[in-house]
Amino acid sequence: MNIDLSNKIALVTGGSRGIGREACVLLAKAGAEVIINYNRSAEKAEAVKKEIEGLGKEAEIFQADISSPEEVRALFDFIRNKYGRLDILVNNAGIIKDNLLLAMELQEWDKVIDTNLRGAFLCARHAAEIMMANHSGKIINISSISAIKGGRGQTNYASAKGGLISFTRACAVELAGKGIQVNAVLPGMIVTDMSSRARKRAGNKILEQIPLNRFGEPSDVANLIVFLSSDKADYITGQTIPVDGGLSVS
Ligand code: NAP
Repeated sequence: MNIDLSNKIALVTGGSRGIGREACVLLAKAGAEVIINYNRSAEKAEAVKKEIEGLGKEAEIFQADISSPEEVRALFDFIRNKYGRLDILVNNAGIIKDNLLLAMELQEWDKVIDTNLRGAFLCARHAAEIMMANHSGKIINISSISAIKGGRGQTNYASAKGGLISFTRACAVELAGKGIQVNAVLPGMIVTDMSSRARKRAGNKILEQIPLNRFGEPSDVANLIVFLSSDKADYITGQTIPVDGGLSVS
């Protein structure tokens, strides 16, 4: 299958590391011009930009904390001024702050909800406004199998990621008539910084539950992101697709 994203403008939130980084590179390889959003990892974001430019493609980096309405506004002002359009939004930026329910601080709850859920809402609102003008666009929300499987110490994260699934469905219905498809990807245990503690602590136990018997690579998720960003996925909307080696069904 030939996926061609030439002339498409893509924004990936949290594009400096992990799954977002790989999504930036694979979207660029498919032809898209990529805006790499990051929060703290400026050098890593710059390295992603360099890698993409090394492929002969264009990329920009833009620092913004996606939980901040003001910073998200600045990010989208930049996109409006520089490109005047946006074709693909990958709401990827996310954090974990695990703690057991009774020990969880309000701050840990709020920070996780604000980054994973409010951030996606803020970005999707701006993106949809720009996409509507062209009656075309793809929004891909990176949720998690934690949304459907539960997990100790993740009441905040599971709630945010579950909210993202509901948000995806509601957006898909609302935006279908505007030519915009909205889908959610649910990674399982993927080899990134985010999962390193869990893999160290309980890696073998988790592996036993994964029918495909390996952790996922960022490219396993990014390949689906590229597909959902393309016109090959024009008839898919409102869906939640796990990329987890079978973990959610085992
Ligand atoms: P990661 O390696 O920890 O990278 C997280 C990315 O999010 C970084 O680029 C980080 O940017 C960015 N970020 C965090 N807070 C931000 C904020 N406030 N504003 C803008 N960017 C922010 O994580 P990952 O594993 O690639 O995870 C990517 C997505 O997949 C997340 O939504 C995560 O919940 C989801 N996911 C991951 C797994 C897994 O096993 N890894 C499983 C299920 C779901 P800076 O470094 O620049 O701050």
